Amino acid sequence: MKCVRCKAKAEVHLRAHNAGFCRPCYLGYFRRQVERTIAHDHMFRPDERILVAVSGGKDSLALWDVLVGLGYQTTGLYLGLGIGGYSDRSRERAEAFAGARDLPLVVRSLADEGSGLAVPDVAAATRRVPCAACGAMKRHFFDAVAHEGQFDVLATGHNLDDEAARLLGNVLRWQRDHLARQRPVLEPTHPKFVRKVKPLYLLSEYETAVYAFMSGIDYVVEECPNAEGATQLVYKDALNRLETASPGTKHAFVKEFVRTAQTLFADDAARGVPGECQQCGMPAFGAICSFCSLVREVEAKRARRAAAELTAG
Ligand code: SF4
Ligand SMILES: [Zn+2]
Ligand SMILES: [Zn+2]
Repeated sequence: MKCVRCKAKAEVHLRAHNAGFCRPCYLGYFRRQVERTIAHDHMFRPDERILVAVSGGKDSLALWDVLVGLGYQTTGLYLGLGIGGYSDRSRERAEAFAGARDLPLVVRSLADEGSGLAVPDVAAATRRVPCAACGAMKRHFFDAVAHEGQFDVLATGHNLDDEAARLLGNVLRWQRDHLARQRPVLEPTHPKFVRKVKPLYLLSEYETAVYAFMSGIDYVVEECPNAEGATQLVYKDALNRLETASPGTKHAFVKEFVRTAQTLFADDAARGVPGECQQCGMPAFGAICSFCSLVREVEAKRARRAAAELTAG
């Protein structure tokens, strides 16, 4: 197969687009797709400061690489989740990426934010599945760091496969409020929130992996050990089968939802304007935010366990 751009030998074939690319043309194609998405969805302007949430994986590092290449003002944010060796290795990759390119990187670690706040400890203390505990804490720290650093935008590396799996899950249960918030650009609903954007939402996991590989990005290849049990993987698997039978399905599913169907759910997003958490001051729909209530729950469980151990001793 030949490259659709320059007719050299193609190194990658994208079935969804029925197109082959050589390495330089593929890198150009990928960057252009991101650039187009940013412009089409009015994600951010060159004068805005962008906080890029990086996990050390291919998606977030590829995103950071492209944004830097396009000349945007970026700072990385790595949040250490305390998930054993996986977290150590992902942090190393994020730090090495930033160090080699002389890019600013904010590193926060859940274990340093309060005793026993690492994801496995919170999950065990609250009997939640790890991903539920992890999601609530990530959202809190992403928002808090973006607010503290006075960034304009928070960008995450969610790709087409992530968004298609999330959309399928939301549609299967007709979660109208979730569908209302499933947008590639979320405008802030409170002065302490920043705009949240997903510039890779129309690029597949495969396309992102090829970009990261071809540009020599050293990313953590292993998945988080908790990902295995996640329902999202079942949806991804189902979507991959549909994609094999009919290339381009995922792209059409997500793109047409965002461009035509999403607004039908806009009214379901009406959660009102959040107030402020009495504990940490970040936006909250109740007296305290979901992160602080999680911390309280962990502390209460731990105190009860310590008291029981004392009595037993
Ligand atoms: S798989 Fe779950 S626990 Fe692991 S990083 Fe993702 S959300 Fe967190
Ligand atoms: Zn070419
Ligand atoms: Zn709070």
